[in-house]
Amino acid sequence: MNIYGITRADLEAYFISRGINKTKARFVFEGIYKERAASLSEIASLNPKVKAVMERDFTFEKIKALEILKGEDVCKVLFELSDGNKIETVLMKHDYGNGLCVSTQVGCNMGCAFCESGRLKKVRDLLPHEMVLQLLCAEEVLGERVSHVVLMGIGEPFDNYDNIMAFADIITDCFGLDIGTTHVTVSTGGVVPKIRQFTERGSRINLAISLHAPNDEIRNRLMPVNRAYPLSELMAAAREYTLSSNKKLTLEYILLDGINDSDENARELCRLVEGIKCYVNLIPYNETENLGFKRSSRQRIAAFYDILKKAKVSATIRHEFGGNLKAACGQLRAENMKKG
Ligand code: SF4
Repeated sequence: MNIYGITRADLEAYFISRGINKTKARFVFEGIYKERAASLSEIASLNPKVKAVMERDFTFEKIKALEILKGEDVCKVLFELSDGNKIETVLMKHDYGNGLCVSTQVGCNMGCAFCESGRLKKVRDLLPHEMVLQLLCAEEVLGERVSHVVLMGIGEPFDNYDNIMAFADIITDCFGLDIGTTHVTVSTGGVVPKIRQFTERGSRINLAISLHAPNDEIRNRLMPVNRAYPLSELMAAAREYTLSSNKKLTLEYILLDGINDSDENARELCRLVEGIKCYVNLIPYNETENLGFKRSSRQRIAAFYDILKKAKVSATIRHEFGGNLKAACGQLRAENMKKG
C-alpha cells in the first residue's frame, strides 16, 4: 500500500502483526512527515531489518502536478493520480496562515445546481493517501506550508466517510504533520446519517454544512441531497452535533442573485438557525460560463448580512479568492478535460 495512506494506529497494528515493536510507527511518521523522507532508506531511525519488512508492503509513490496557476492570494494545482484521473487542490493565503482546500472524490454525484464540479459525475472515491498527497505535493510544488485544511474541494466528503476520517487522523497526528484539529474542517452538503456518525465518533475536527437555502423549496432546487434529507432532519442533526461536541458549526451560504438572497430569505435563515450554536459564512458566488446563476450584488449581500446581524446571528462575508483564476471548484479540471 501507499505509505501516505496509513494511520499511525494501523501502522502499529501492522508492526505488531509482524512481531516488530509498535513504537516504530512513530519513527516512520516522524521520518516521512517531519523530515520528509522520500524513501525508507532516508529514515535513519529505522533499522535495516524493519526496512526490509516494510519494503515488501509499502510504496512512496507521489501524485504528479500537471498544471499550476498562481494568483496573489490563491494557487491552484491540477494533479494526476496514478490511474490517470485528475483532481484539483486550492491553496488560499489568509493572514492567519495557508488554507488548503482538498478534493475528496474524482468528480461528484451530488449534482448541486450551481456547481461546476457537479457536472462531472463521480468516477471514484479518493483514498487517504491521495488526499494526504494533495497536501504534501502542494507544499512541495508551491513552496508554501499548509496550516489549515478544508475538505471542501470536489466531492462530497461524507460520501467517502471512512477514507476522509483516516485522512484527518493522519494529518492531525502529533508525530506527523500535526495540524491542529481545530484547523481542519470537513464540509458536507447534508448527508444526515453521516453527520450523526461523525457526531457519535466525537471527532474534534470542525464541521461545516453547505446550506445555501433557507427553506426546502429553494434547497430542493439547488441541492438534490435535500430531497433525501430535508431541512428539518438536517437541522436536527446539526443541533445534535453542536450539543454533543460543544463546538460551533459553520453554515455555508452562497448568495445567488434572485434565488436565495431576498430580505425574506435572510429572515427565514435567522429562524432556521435559531438556538443552534453556529456561524453563517456568506459566500459571493463565483460565476461560471456553463451555469445560469448570477452573483448577488454587493448591496444585496450587505443587506442580507445586516438582517442576520440585527437578529444576532453570527455571520461573515467570505473573502473572495482568485475570481480571475478559475477558482470555482472543478473549473481547472473541466478545462483540462476539454483540452483532452
Ligand atoms: S458543491 Fe460540492 S457536493 Fe455539490 S456538486 Fe459541487 S462538489 Fe459536489
